[in-house]
Amino acid sequence: MRASLAGVKHVVVVLSGKGGVGKSLVSSSLAVGLSLLGKRAAVLDADIHGSSIPWMLGLEEARVAVRGDKLVPPEVHGVAVMSLELLAEDRGAPLVWRGPLKAKAIIDMLTATEWGERDYLVVDLPPGTGDEPLTIAQALGAKGGYAILVVAPGLLVKHVVAKAERFARELNLKLLGVVANMAYFRCPACGAVHRPLGKLEVGESRVLAEIPLDPELADAVDRGELAGYVASSTSEAARALRGLAAAVAGAVEAG
Ligand code: ADP
Repeated sequence: MRASLAGVKHVVVVLSGKGGVGKSLVSSSLAVGLSLLGKRAAVLDADIHGSSIPWMLGLEEARVAVRGDKLVPPEVHGVAVMSLELLAEDRGAPLVWRGPLKAKAIIDMLTATEWGERDYLVVDLPPGTGDEPLTIAQALGAKGGYAILVVAPGLLVKHVVAKAERFARELNLKLLGVVANMAYFRCPACGAVHRPLGKLEVGESRVLAEIPLDPELADAVDRGELAGYVASSTSEAARALRGLAAAVAGAVEAG
């Protein structure tokens, strides 16, 4: 593992309390945003249950290249993207392996990949703080690193934050802060801010970004055009996602 990650400067793992809060979207957007800042970035899709990164980034037809005994990931906007989905013969077939086997497959993939020189490797972990994310993060832990937590309003957020803090502490990861996704909706007609999912209370944690609900963003995800959206949309959500990359890079590089 250490040899395989030798060219990677910083690992940032992305955590969530449960599925559906936008963890994969945030992971992909963070990697694209870092690339826009001139950083060499890669994203690893380690969320085997809800693997969606190749789709969001329009890579459903892409294949991993094989060079010797190494796997060379495809790139989008300069971001190397690795996912078990990109190795599967039959895209879309559900992976029915049991937990430990899945975590092992992810770790094997991680070590077999030729990451090259990367300033950042963003890792989309499985949701929660149970065995699977733990095993994968532990394997990465040798490298030290950082974590961010994605939350949406109304999901016992304080509890989720406390769990993530413990998870990070146990793994010697520095928790940089929280991404408040789906935090609000701005009425396109009158500009009023609504919080349809409720208020978001994150306690003492630093909020790295507040990302509004944005139908244009949901649409870009569905069309596999998330990278283009993050790179060029002028929407509030796109600006917040670019701001997230700047906040993460700032925090990491400040030491
Ligand atoms: P997770 O990885 O946490 O399971 P995803 O990143 O796959 O969640 O996101 C779940 C769904 O919610 C996706 O269809 C995504 O497009 C949508 N979504 C997430 N955040 C937003 C947002 N801020 N605005 C609109 N749609 C969003």
